[in-house]
Amino acid sequence: MCGIVGVVGKPARDVLLNGLKNLEYRGYDSAGIYLNDLQGHQYLTKAVGRIKNLEAKLTPDEQGVVGIAHTRWATHGKPTVANAHPQYSSDNRFYLVHNGVIENYATLKNKYLSDVEFHSDTDTEVIVQLVDKFAREDNLPAFAAFKKVLNLVEGSYAFLLVDNTEPDHIFIAKNKSPMMLGVGDGFNIIASDAISVLDQTRTFIDLHDGDVADVTKDKIVIEDLQGNAVDRPAKELDIDPNASSKGTYEFFMLKEIDEQPAVMRRLAQDYFDGNNVKVDPAIVQAAADSDRIYILAAGTSYHAGLVGKNLLEKYTGIPVEVGLASEFGYHFPRLSKKPFFIFLTQSGETADSRVVLTQVNDRQLPSLTITNVEGSTLSREATYTMLLKAGPEIAVASTKAYTAQVAVQAILAKAVGEKLGLQVARDFDLKHQLGLAAEGMQQLVDGKEKIDELAKKYLATTRNAFYIGRGVDYAVALEGALKLKEVSYIQTEGFAAAELKHGTIALIEKGTPVVALINDPATADLTRGNIREVQSRGANVIVFAAKEFAQPGDDVVLPQIEYYLSPLVTVVPAQLLAYYASKNKGLDVDKPRNLAKSVTVE
Ligand code: GLU
Repeated sequence: MCGIVGVVGKPARDVLLNGLKNLEYRGYDSAGIYLNDLQGHQYLTKAVGRIKNLEAKLTPDEQGVVGIAHTRWATHGKPTVANAHPQYSSDNRFYLVHNGVIENYATLKNKYLSDVEFHSDTDTEVIVQLVDKFAREDNLPAFAAFKKVLNLVEGSYAFLLVDNTEPDHIFIAKNKSPMMLGVGDGFNIIASDAISVLDQTRTFIDLHDGDVADVTKDKIVIEDLQGNAVDRPAKELDIDPNASSKGTYEFFMLKEIDEQPAVMRRLAQDYFDGNNVKVDPAIVQAAADSDRIYILAAGTSYHAGLVGKNLLEKYTGIPVEVGLASEFGYHFPRLSKKPFFIFLTQSGETADSRVVLTQVNDRQLPSLTITNVEGSTLSREATYTMLLKAGPEIAVASTKAYTAQVAVQAILAKAVGEKLGLQVARDFDLKHQLGLAAEGMQQLVDGKEKIDELAKKYLATTRNAFYIGRGVDYAVALEGALKLKEVSYIQTEGFAAAELKHGTIALIEKGTPVVALINDPATADLTRGNIREVQSRGANVIVFAAKEFAQPGDDVVLPQIEYYLSPLVTVVPAQLLAYYASKNKGLDVDKPRNLAKSVTVE
């Protein structure tokens, strides 16, 4: 989880600190840096909290031409200086940074290291102490000792290791945690996300699970865990580095909310040829051949999947099930005869989804990853990929990736439905609808002051809140509630509007904010009834209603688009409400506490 940067062959300190700052968006609780000047000096500095705390601790003489740095999202042991990485061996010979989780760390510790005194509570320290033990006792060079340990390790990892007796090397290993190897002129750089070091190089080698490498300033040797040479080609990455800068915005979250109309237009352009929807025919055929579609996802992507279910069922006629990847992975339901799997993952690295994909691949079933990150793990491992084309999403709370996921599922639904010869799919004027969505989103974003006022009026001091809606509004209610709780820490629940009265209405008291969403033609009047129920118990109701159903006094009138696509516009004021609730409280909107951007641990 979180971030790793390493560099060999150039003044390392600023490169590493900048790289870590670019990775801040992934969420972390502590940071650390190791530098070696190859003149016999090595420096280790670690700090709890933000990278600026780490910077403040560094003295001017701490420089090096080899270095490894880390932002930690604690899984084993509290966020303390001792538990921050790099972790080191007791003789100060080996230094290691790690993203991921070592599942058998306790077994390894008991079996091999009962005589070693540990200075941290991390799973990671076990690995660095074990490398040291094998190097000493078996008289192995670092790379060999490292591989010997890796053959015993179970779990997920991106590791960077430095041996102070041959400090011009960085040894690296990858399994189930992201890591890219950047190739420079006279230097090499390693990072958990290429965009964090784009100012250094554009040439990257995509490492695969099970790869280990010995990297010096002008040489890269990649092997598998058995020591066989592995060939991984270097590729030029085509990413716009400006896309990851905040520009004039105070927070990335608002910038990304603002970018949604542009993302809709890009999708309407890239996935259409004139007015004809354009999706890889192999994907369309595979989905059209299936008798059931399974959508697997987590968090916000799961909520996008709930919207996608409606779209896919309506326009393809194929039944769709949506599952939480973390549950599905360990309790596979009875599958249909010809299933087709869709993985929704913004980062393409979500560990919970990957657990399912691995099993889908074992059963040789067809799969599609819908992701924002080209070349990501789930994209490589699924049969097919469709890209969200949303540009880098830096704020931890997902906004534009969510709307892009909804739109891409609609695109797929139309393409598959047309392939199946369904009139309803042919009649679906999706390109036009995406244009309407873009305009509608723009209108809502332009009216953001109004939402700021609502946040100030109703959410400034409240400790809890509700979202209610029916039909696809229920799916958006879940997403609106998640957005609000993740960035503002207000405990918020999303509810199917009618369900509230079956128990939870007991929590409504004077002043409880309830956001009601109304787009569903079949239930608009019923939801109005549910609003009256909570109002009469003292709730402060905020109404977002589609133009067609809006009444005087509603807080936000949603621009009219096709009902099943309405989440594209309904979610925008919900995102803004979360944004302002957080900002008005003075919170760090982009980096909410305890959260990580790409959840690469199970
Ligand atoms: N499991 C390690 C720890 O808790 C690494 C966590 C991370 O990925 O940052 O220290």
